[in-house]
Amino acid sequence: MKKHFLFSTLFPVVLAIFVSVFFVPFACSNSITSSGIPFVIDDNPKDFMWPTPSYKNVTSPFGYRKSPATGASTYHGGIDIGAPQGSKIFATLSGKVIYTGFKGANGYTVIIKHDNNYESTYGHVSPNFVVEVGDYVEKGDHIANVGPKYIDKKSFTTYKDSTGQYTNGATTGPHLHFAISLNGKRIDPATLF
Ligand SMILES: [Zn+2]
Repeated sequence: MKKHFLFSTLFPVVLAIFVSVFFVPFACSNSITSSGIPFVIDDNPKDFMWPTPSYKNVTSPFGYRKSPATGASTYHGGIDIGAPQGSKIFATLSGKVIYTGFKGANGYTVIIKHDNNYESTYGHVSPNFVVEVGDYVEKGDHIANVGPKYIDKKSFTTYKDSTGQYTNGATTGPHLHFAISLNGKRIDPATLF
């Protein structure tokens, strides 16, 4: 009788405690913080790829800055990645190309809209675009090349440097201006890697 009680009542209780202590924390490790308070699981695939894998030096960070290039905003809506002219630029996430053209201070620009309300912008690229509006690109696809400092199509730009030559937007030399927006609001791309 006592043995029967142990196996029919006590054993399931012990088993339940064992399971909850040892397995539930593992199963729920993505949705429970260390303090035990649940938070909303973000199911956006935030596995962004750095757009210039061979060049990781951020020459100008996101946010307010004191001495931008002539004509550039003191608020920097992206990061500048130092890379030589001609360096390949790759899509940070899969998505649809929604813009290729000359876009003010960003110079020649490619914009990709992603499935999860993110948008990525690549500025000061080469005018020899390798994608066009409407293209669907996979993460890691070659989408542009780092452009030259100077351009000759002056009808597109009012930006010049001290030599009087027209520049590829507000830029002091070849680099990638890389910007990310989420729901239309700029966020710091450096926080995504
Ligand atoms: Zn920039």
